[in-house]
Amino acid sequence: MMSQENKALIGVIGGSGLYDPGIFENTREIKVYTPFGEPSDLITLGELEGKTVAFLPRHGRRHRIPPHRINYRANIWALKELGVKFLISVSAVGSLNLSYKPGDFLVPDQFIDMTKGRQYTFYDGPVVAHVSMADPFCNSLRKVILKSAEKLGIVTHSKGTYICIEGPRFSTRAESLVWKEVFKADIIGMTLVPEVNLACEAQMCYATVAMITDYDVFADVPVTAEEVTKVMSDNTAKAKILLREVIRSLPDRPEGECSCCNSLKTALI
Ligand SMILES: [Zn+2]
Repeated sequence: MMSQENKALIGVIGGSGLYDPGIFENTREIKVYTPFGEPSDLITLGELEGKTVAFLPRHGRRHRIPPHRINYRANIWALKELGVKFLISVSAVGSLNLSYKPGDFLVPDQFIDMTKGRQYTFYDGPVVAHVSMADPFCNSLRKVILKSAEKLGIVTHSKGTYICIEGPRFSTRAESLVWKEVFKADIIGMTLVPEVNLACEAQMCYATVAMITDYDVFADVPVTAEEVTKVMSDNTAKAKILLREVIRSLPDRPEGECSCCNSLKTALI
């Protein structure tokens, strides 16, 4: 059992570039044990405006863990164990849509899963669960993020489809064109799945802030490493400001209109 003070209603999983949000007070680091092994790193508990937040860097500090080796089950289990109900995930992505530019943010409302061999569920039997993924993200949490971004003047697109590839390699030109022209995906990354599936099984309100770093290879826009680094560091700075506002704006508990916290009601067999 976790002691009472090691509890957090809000969780943040930081992606590439965001290893330490640096916006919390009274921070402490804790190690959480799970039946699925070790999370990506120690979890930082900190306070912001009287709210306790749990922060976990998805790739570990110093970016040690590639997307296909992340222990997504341990990460979500650990945050659930701490009492997290609102989970904000932050990730760097590429754009497949010329109107969604490097430096813009996007809060996806759909995803397509092209990953190949990950641990997708907490229910490997004998208990079996088929959760609904028709609307995979929490709409209440998405709205809070979008409203906060608008208030801060951060360019943030209110919908779009995130295609998650296995990685760690990037797409071929042919693949990139399929994702864009055939699948109609808007952004591309390697870490959304199965984080989103597991958050749903854990009955959390989950939404993603996707930070666009560059165009995917279809666009044939040559970029230098310095340009990408500059966009990423600007994005990280904006993400910190946005997180502060989102955390400030979140209610004390999930609201009635959202069904994320009942996702298992009709899913267990
Ligand atoms: Zn929700």
